[in-house]
Amino acid sequence: MIKEVEAKTILRKHKKIDSWFISQYGFNLYRGCMHNCLYCDGRSEKYNVNGEFGNDVTVKINAVEVLRRELDPKRKRTPLKKCFIMCGGGIGDSYQPVEKKYQLSRKTLQLLYEYGFPVSILTKSTLVKRDADIIKKINEQSRAIVSFSFSSVDDEISRVFEPGVPMPSERLEAIRFFKKEGIACGMFLLPVLPFITDWPEAIEDSIREAKNADVDFVIFGGMTLKDGRQKNYFLERLRENYPNLLTEYRHIYRGDKWGNPVREYYDSIHKTFNLAAKKYKMPKRIPPSLYKNIIGENDLVIVILEHLDYLLKLEGKPSPYGYAAYSISKLTTPISSLKDGLREIKGVGKTTEHIIIEILNTGSSSYYEKLLVG
Ligand code: SF4
Repeated sequence: MIKEVEAKTILRKHKKIDSWFISQYGFNLYRGCMHNCLYCDGRSEKYNVNGEFGNDVTVKINAVEVLRRELDPKRKRTPLKKCFIMCGGGIGDSYQPVEKKYQLSRKTLQLLYEYGFPVSILTKSTLVKRDADIIKKINEQSRAIVSFSFSSVDDEISRVFEPGVPMPSERLEAIRFFKKEGIACGMFLLPVLPFITDWPEAIEDSIREAKNADVDFVIFGGMTLKDGRQKNYFLERLRENYPNLLTEYRHIYRGDKWGNPVREYYDSIHKTFNLAAKKYKMPKRIPPSLYKNIIGENDLVIVILEHLDYLLKLEGKPSPYGYAAYSISKLTTPISSLKDGLREIKGVGKTTEHIIIEILNTGSSSYYEKLLVG
């Protein structure tokens, strides 16, 4: 069932720049998702999505007018920051079937183009190809990144777990299509399904296919299963399709409040991913070449330090960079004005200071660039 509602606000602002998407703002045009992936965490009570998930969708019918108001610089005391605006989210794919009728994603992209914002889209649907004309215009003006999420590149497994979306082979074809149009593309290999698509061979297949499709980066993640609706629904479907895996799932999902699997499992899949990504020299985060002239200097430093933090943890090494990034996110002055006093920032030692200076001078860090693909 489709329910039309009038939204009061559309744009969601993060407290600091999100280094996964290089974005500080995002929006959901739909609540609920007809794609009905069995593992979707939009089903969890935490997100208060009303109705029967997979069937019922709420459409923010006035999204375009509200967003126009929110983007209009004349109505703002402080202008919005320059960064990617994220189109898509975990509780409703922006290109799910209702988009064919309402065209809210298309209209909001048109608006983002008018206001000159770069855009990052994350979807599982090839319907996004319909909007290639606007996405190309945005890309020429500021930049667009189109990413697709995958739990694997296996069409048969996808048919079971992602019943409402185009097959992985079609998503890969869509990536090739956008790449030919000169648009940067990412693969979100997320979530891999425990004991089904998390094997070294399966993860390597995904990265190899991503490489063959010329994607610019692969971002990896495991599956969360929050107690309640999401976990119950998923385990029921698992019982129907892979009953022999129930015990293993119960073993690794033991009621963590965020639905995370146990640490040993999490570490082992990340290790597997890291090895495969290195083999194909695949960037494991959005590379700076795609955003360094777009975001402000403090955000650039925060993003690269957070990426470094992630990459070192993938290697099983300690990292001071996450804390330094957090401290920098609290600064109210441009970091370049503190060049002689960087060490006074909490968490910034000698090495971090050198890295920050290199980022300010060149837009990146050679140490980081090596870790990104190696
Ligand atoms: S496409 Fe995304 S939002 Fe939609 S059901 Fe699948 S995981 Fe959930």
